[in-house]
Amino acid sequence: MKLILLGPPGAGKGTHARILSEKYHAPHLATGEILRQQIREKTPLGRKAKDIIEKGGLVPDQIVNAMMFQVMGRIGTEGGFILDGFPRTLGQAEALEDFLAEEKTKPDTVLNFQTSEKVIIDRLSGRRVCPKCGANYHIRNIPPKKAGICDSCGEKLTQRKDDEPETIKHRLRMYESETKPLIDFYAKRNLLKDVPGDYDVPELQAELASFFDELKLVK
Ligand code: ADP
Ligand code: ZN
Repeated sequence: MKLILLGPPGAGKGTHARILSEKYHAPHLATGEILRQQIREKTPLGRKAKDIIEKGGLVPDQIVNAMMFQVMGRIGTEGGFILDGFPRTLGQAEALEDFLAEEKTKPDTVLNFQTSEKVIIDRLSGRRVCPKCGANYHIRNIPPKKAGICDSCGEKLTQRKDDEPETIKHRLRMYESETKPLIDFYAKRNLLKDVPGDYDVPELQAELASFFDELKLVK
């Protein structure tokens, strides 16, 4: 399964990508997670990305492309991929197209998460993350077993700096200007599939399962 998940921040890409990755055994490549990992490990790349991410900006194409192609080159594309948060600009989409052409492959489909602003703001403002292992929660939709504590590792949960209201607004503006043009880019290539991002998780998973059946993506 070779998927690209497209959509605004808070659209549900990460949540669905994690489930699909387990269900269909395709590697989940979340650009934001990889970048945050670099920040936690204080690598040179992490140092460059930290300020940009905390302010809700986009890390330059050159850096993100090199990072993603390194990861994809290492694991290979034969086992499939679920790209979550990449590409996010036209420059990234073009570079990815070239990279995949060299690998003699292309995405099966691009899922375009259509999520309303109200739902986005609720999801992002209620999101809590584990600073140690990166697990994600939501105060109402996906609460941890014990309030404020990570189920997997017991660490105290925190709120991402870029989930503060002003930063959320900036990220949504970046989505509108930089990422939205990708809808057209993939529609022109007949790869776009709109999906209802406002649905709750099991509902949307069911819809995706029947779409993958139709596409004969899963044997
Ligand atoms: P969200 O999708 O909710 O914005 P992510 O975890 O995917 O969250 O991304 C967090 C931040 O990481 C982004 O706001 C941006 O600063 C940076 N980032 C992630 N993916 C990319 C990308 N493809 N290009 C540039 N910056 C990125
Ligand atoms: Zn944890």
